[in-house]
Amino acid sequence: MAKMKNRTLPLLSKSKYMSGLQCLKLLWYEYNRKEDFSEVDAAAQAIMDQGQVVGELAQTLFPGGITLQRDPAPDKQAEKSLEAAKFRKPLFEAGFVYKQAYALADILNPVAKDAWDLIEVKSSSGVKEEHYSDVAFQKYVYEGAGLKIRKCYLMYINNQYVRKGEIEPKKLFATEDVTKQCDDLMPEIETNVADMFETIRKEDVPRVKIGPHCYNPHPCPLEYICWDFLPPKDDIFCLYSGTKKAYELLERGVLRLTDIKADVNLSDKQNIQVICHKNGTPHIDKKGIKDFLDTLEYPFYFLDFETINPAIPAYDNSRPFEAIPFQYSLYIVKNSLFESLNG
Ligand code: SF4
Repeated sequence: MAKMKNRTLPLLSKSKYMSGLQCLKLLWYEYNRKEDFSEVDAAAQAIMDQGQVVGELAQTLFPGGITLQRDPAPDKQAEKSLEAAKFRKPLFEAGFVYKQAYALADILNPVAKDAWDLIEVKSSSGVKEEHYSDVAFQKYVYEGAGLKIRKCYLMYINNQYVRKGEIEPKKLFATEDVTKQCDDLMPEIETNVADMFETIRKEDVPRVKIGPHCYNPHPCPLEYICWDFLPPKDDIFCLYSGTKKAYELLERGVLRLTDIKADVNLSDKQNIQVICHKNGTPHIDKKGIKDFLDTLEYPFYFLDFETINPAIPAYDNSRPFEAIPFQYSLYIVKNSLFESLNG
């Protein structure tokens, strides 16, 4: 029987619940080996900052709301949130505790005499499957804490919106009623939470095989640990467009491209790749290259560019997530003379 740690554990937050749904091993590390996670990098921080701005814009749709400053102690946050709830105004970042679970609401909007609508704001261009579990967990916590939740909504970015002047939050956001999807998930939450705590309390790291869940719904930060058993070069996940096949091969104990047997059904391109690895020689389709080059006429233009795609359009006449170039380089080959122009 697995050894259990006997200690008081922090409450299960929504983000940890979502980690647990993705992978129990990931959740175990989050509680037991925090030091194995790398620092948040600039790209991840930029996404979080963008989420913050999107959240604040969404709040403007609920004038007169009360923002609850975050208290690191969930009990204290819950205490002041319950106090603020008495004013029957929109609440931003209100936090509640139920049993071993804790959640902060983006927006709770008072409706009817004593009920609330729960609004979760996402910086995505639509509703994703994992959002239902996210909102259902919140509903479970808030109802458990004594709030009456009438409806659950997901508010996301309307990618058809075109900026003209100041951002218009009413047009920027779209809203979807997800009450039914959340209610369908409610019965399993209590069991999920109990299972997660059982895992967290174990002395030993749970055994979980790598799989598509390592990237779904988010790339797992522990890939550098769990995937480390693969050979450093030519592992089967290098197979061209072959992730599904690679998992099948892994189940059969095949780790390297060079170990793929001839009876494995591969596409033409995969076949070429495997043969190249086995023989240690490149594949060069000289005729194909020549035929292509013969179709080109001087001058040749080589254009490279970088783009940003902000959730909130930065310029007039642009849409959310539209790719906006901000840097380019253009190399021009006129006959055999090489000329470059940098933008
Ligand atoms: S890399 Fe995969 S198996 Fe390992 S913790 Fe992450 S999701 Fe789980």
